[in-house]
Amino acid sequence: MASKVYFTSLRTSYNNSLLTKIERLALAAGLEDIVRKGGLTAVKLHFGERGGTAFIRPVLVRPVVDALLRAGARPFLTDTSTLYVGSRGNAVDHLNTALLNGFAYSVAGAPVIIADGLDGADEAVVRVNLKHFKDVMIASAIVRAESLVSLAHFKLHDAAGFGGALKNLAMGAASRKGKMAQHSDVAPKIIYKKCIGCGFCLEQCAQGAISIVERPAGVGAPSASAAQVVQIDRKLCVGCAQCIHACRQGALTIDWGKDATRLMEKIAEYAAGAIKGKEKRSLFINFLTQISPACDCYPFSDAPIVADIGIAASRDPVAIDQACVDLLNRSPHLPSSCLKGEEHHPDKIRALYPKLSWEHQLIHAEEAGIGTREYELVEIEAEKR
Ligand code: SF4
Ligand code: SF4
Repeated sequence: MASKVYFTSLRTSYNNSLLTKIERLALAAGLEDIVRKGGLTAVKLHFGERGGTAFIRPVLVRPVVDALLRAGARPFLTDTSTLYVGSRGNAVDHLNTALLNGFAYSVAGAPVIIADGLDGADEAVVRVNLKHFKDVMIASAIVRAESLVSLAHFKLHDAAGFGGALKNLAMGAASRKGKMAQHSDVAPKIIYKKCIGCGFCLEQCAQGAISIVERPAGVGAPSASAAQVVQIDRKLCVGCAQCIHACRQGALTIDWGKDATRLMEKIAEYAAGAIKGKEKRSLFINFLTQISPACDCYPFSDAPIVADIGIAASRDPVAIDQACVDLLNRSPHLPSSCLKGEEHHPDKIRALYPKLSWEHQLIHAEEAGIGTREYELVEIEAEKR
């Protein structure tokens, strides 16, 4: 049976501001049905990396918080600390970054709690019994919350194809160990003929997996002076991809294909773990705004690839992500973005990441039993023009 995905465009009027529309959207999708009076409610979102600008604006989080408060819930904003060197690697840095990006109590209306504790180790084991994982490690504050609202910035992702509700809950709700378990198959591939042995990537690796060694005989080099080359210890590498983006020579790349597919399947299984026990007390809201070509975990956000589309909400995390991919692919691309030229791209994810079969996230999530790719799109109101 198809799941309902509610949708609102960003058109507004005097009596119908975007804040009003977001609250109406959340209520239409069943926000009041997922909370109990006095129930602690995790509002899971991404506070943005320092330098990033595409994350959900705090002022747009407020109407969801207000609706939860009116329904009697006790909401808190939450996320987990990252694996990579960045501005959110522990609770102190993460809270400072959240504040810097505007997630103050006075703006968003709820306190911020880092769900996996001071250093990413506060976790609970959740049994899922799926293909890759019997158990998954989820941040304890998310497991212990009675209800869950996922607020995801929908965008493209250079390893998972796209990031929506599933990824917000999978990587985003996992403890440090849980993130490592998802990433562990995805060590970068070295393109030896591009590596100049500068060692810049080494500084970005929080795991100490990178070293610079003498270039072995017979390995192609960009110039005769590039006597050294990067080496990655696959046992230490957790596949966080930080070094890939740090390398200005393009000498590191994702090992596309089998590894990326496994990552997507693992994402689906971790998403199942994050909502386990709260299947009837979870709501998913995706913001199709500033749809950037890559993850919000980078310290920058490139130009959006399409014009802002709107906001979607559903009780089904698979249906909402499928609907968002379809809404994205129906939109004309912006030639001022990295998707240049006039050619129409019916599959914008493949246009940017041709080797990524992004559908695997959705197919495996459906197989894991957390939702369906079949959906009915319900516009919450005819737009006034
Ligand atoms: S992979 Fe890139 S950043 Fe690392 S040493 Fe080689 S050229 Fe430098
Ligand atoms: S070598 Fe592995 S762990 Fe280190 S930054 Fe690169 S992907 Fe991350």
